[in-house]
Amino acid sequence: MQHDEIVRTYAHGETALKYLKANETPAFPRNYELWYTYSSGLNRELNQAINEALRAHGSLSPSMTDKIYEEFVSPAVLTERVGKVSGELTGEVAEIIKALARAGGSVGTYGDALKTVMDDLDEVDSTAKLQPILSSIIDATREMETQNSQLEKRLQESQSHISELQQTLESIRFESLTDQLTGLANRKRFDEALLTALNAAEETGNAMCLILGDVDHFKKFNDTFGHQTGDQVLRLVAATLRNNVKGQDTAARYGGEEFGIVLPRTDLESAFSLADQIREVIKAKELIKRSTGESLGRVTMSFGVAVYHPNDTAETIIERADAALYAAKRTGRDRVMRESGHAEESAVA
Ligand code: GH3
Ligand code: MG
Ligand code: MG
Repeated sequence: MQHDEIVRTYAHGETALKYLKANETPAFPRNYELWYTYSSGLNRELNQAINEALRAHGSLSPSMTDKIYEEFVSPAVLTERVGKVSGELTGEVAEIIKALARAGGSVGTYGDALKTVMDDLDEVDSTAKLQPILSSIIDATREMETQNSQLEKRLQESQSHISELQQTLESIRFESLTDQLTGLANRKRFDEALLTALNAAEETGNAMCLILGDVDHFKKFNDTFGHQTGDQVLRLVAATLRNNVKGQDTAARYGGEEFGIVLPRTDLESAFSLADQIREVIKAKELIKRSTGESLGRVTMSFGVAVYHPNDTAETIIERADAALYAAKRTGRDRVMRESGHAEESAVA
């Protein structure tokens, strides 16, 4: 790295610290990374999002910081890691081409196939694009291996390296679909699961349902006990969802303190019962602050349930579940409401 470049990184680092202080944000690595990236100006969308938040609120609260990090920095970090994997892969393919050149003989089409792969690798920025390329290398290599015993050993080594890279890619993909705070599916996986369930419902004519849930008066809880304790509550809600949502169903953190559950092959009454059962379990838990043993009382949640209608899109079914959730809030919270046209609500103790 050149001297000027190093000096520039210090300047960005110092600016990042100033922003951390001005927003009274702890200098945890994630927060530092966010403000460093902001100072460097390298991520335009990130800067726009921060500028908008600053214009609207004057400073960046911890939850806004998290949200912006998740939306704009996490994907960039993952893309960078995917880039690294594809860089290693390019190296590996170059090695195979060299080995082929040394071996000589009838490697024409295989060599051509690998060169095409090298070109494709230049444009890779996501796991989705990298996976098919990896598969094509593995297929081509396997075929070549059987044709040319001289190359066998070298190609076997390549293959095992490439399958390691494939596993790395799989874990990056998994991480990119997981919410960091709670370990539940994130919004991206939720969107995928919802689309799959909608398509299946359309094809098979089976029912499917969507539940949206939102923690009641959570802002007040945060203001009273602090954001970190609020985060613990979100983990507790997530654990409850994990325990009650199994198999084909997907429980996700849909937004800050909002959760979504996709239920393929489930009718409205079963979905309603499940939401109500989760509501009861969460409400029954007395929250104790671990560090002090202090009781924090209880939290409740409200839920809205929608069932698949022919021609539904993700947008339309979410809209109905959201309207039902809103109705649950409006009529007193701590309850489950079905989409309108199914007015009966859960019993409130
Ligand atoms: P309501 O019953 O109407 O839902 O009231 P509410 O206060 O829960 O509703 P509102 O949507 O106004 O506030 C949501 C609050 O959730 C805002 C923010 O303080 C908090 N929140 C959102 N995401 C997070 C998070 O990741 N961690 C923590 N601790 N709090 C969060
Ligand atoms: Mg909310
Ligand atoms: Mg809320």
